[in-house]
Amino acid sequence: MNIAIDGPAGAGKSTVAQMVAERLGHVYIDTGAMYRALAWAVDHHGIPVEDEAAVATLLGESTIALKRTEQGQIVLWNDQDITTEIRTPRVSQYASIVASYPLVREQMLHLQRAMASDGNVVMDGRDIGTHVLPDADVKIFLTASIEERAGRRMAELQQKGISADLESLKQEIAERDKRDSERKAAPLRQAEDAHLIDTTGLGLSQVVDRVMQICKQTGEQDS
Ligand code: C5P
Repeated sequence: MNIAIDGPAGAGKSTVAQMVAERLGHVYIDTGAMYRALAWAVDHHGIPVEDEAAVATLLGESTIALKRTEQGQIVLWNDQDITTEIRTPRVSQYASIVASYPLVREQMLHLQRAMASDGNVVMDGRDIGTHVLPDADVKIFLTASIEERAGRRMAELQQKGISADLESLKQEIAERDKRDSERKAAPLRQAEDAHLIDTTGLGLSQVVDRVMQICKQTGEQDS
């Protein structure tokens, strides 16, 4: 069973996806981390972020790996561990710029489909249910109010020792949502057959239980 979890920034996709994957014994794949890795590398190498061809070439010449460790998933760019570096607000903004390029998305699509080819994955992102895994057995679209999403992002950053300000986070998230939803290539959109879960006011375990319930119902319908 493949599970696709999409939604806007800060809706809790990665935490929920990781917990669902753990409960089901599935592999978790964070596609946002792949766009973030590319964004970090563009910045690191001083490549102009507006140069689509140069950004796509850099991706084509490099490797991105998501590795499972006891500390959770780590992100490797050409074997360099950049797990912490990719979580800054600057990388978030750059990620949504490089993610708008068709030449980048095309390559990411191949990489992500190859990662999911063995099945039993929980993959989260923006276009998983609509483009990467259109045949996923379960599709979830997670959302929440912007206030709640910014608040969660702030707590997450603070936990990692990165200081943040709520108003700028709100603005950053709104900007990213707009860019992700309005781009031509695989925009952020709820798949027609996705289950919508508004997580505003819900606790993590309630959301995970709801997703597990949907997976169970789907499994029963299919058997
Ligand atoms: O999910 P996360 O916030 O880490 O994603 C970072 C950025 O990567 C998003 O704002 C979005 O622009 C891009 N992204 C995407 N498609 C995906 C996953 C992420 O365009 N499947």
